[in-house]
Amino acid sequence: MQSNDACRLPWTPPPAVDVEALPAGKWWDSVRAAPLVGERALELLGDDTGAVIQDKYGTLYWLIEVGSAESWRLRQVRILTELTDESTYLGVPPISRTEGPGTHWRVPLSAEHYLTDAFKLCGALAEADRAELGPVPQGRRTCYHCELPTDEPVIVDIQHGGSGAGRTIYACPRHTRTYQRDAVTEAAARRRALDQGRTR
Ligand SMILES: [Zn+2]
Repeated sequence: MQSNDACRLPWTPPPAVDVEALPAGKWWDSVRAAPLVGERALELLGDDTGAVIQDKYGTLYWLIEVGSAESWRLRQVRILTELTDESTYLGVPPISRTEGPGTHWRVPLSAEHYLTDAFKLCGALAEADRAELGPVPQGRRTCYHCELPTDEPVIVDIQHGGSGAGRTIYACPRHTRTYQRDAVTEAAARRRALDQGRTR
């Protein structure tokens, strides 16, 4: 007897040979998390995770029950759901695509893994947020790099001045990981300048 896993699955993407854009809010809503936060949350969830899609940038997408997530206000996390005036689409890979590169099922769809409990997912993402991005600053801050205000500021540095009062450096989601690189480049430039000063 041939076993047919698809028959036992609660849901399967429509048969397609490639990634297909499917509307959120019909079978599921989706929770998107940036790679750093997403990876940590996936680890924290352990066996409690449902199916997870990963795109080519490493961004993770969980599927949750439609309408089960409100505004979570977590940094680098978005809820993809049907909006009143427009549809939101998620790139869903064929069920058989369980390896990259490109969009694939990081945690494959199976009878045990489909929807993730929104409450547990929120808890894991909140913990991952604190662990990976540090304390949550109050309110909007200006990104040190693009100089635009951001609602999801991450403290990337606290510079201690001579007076003892520290200057806090904030970054927007796009530039959170740019800071370290910039800081290293700056330090190298300062060292070079010092070295040149000495040899003169
Ligand atoms: Zn920025």
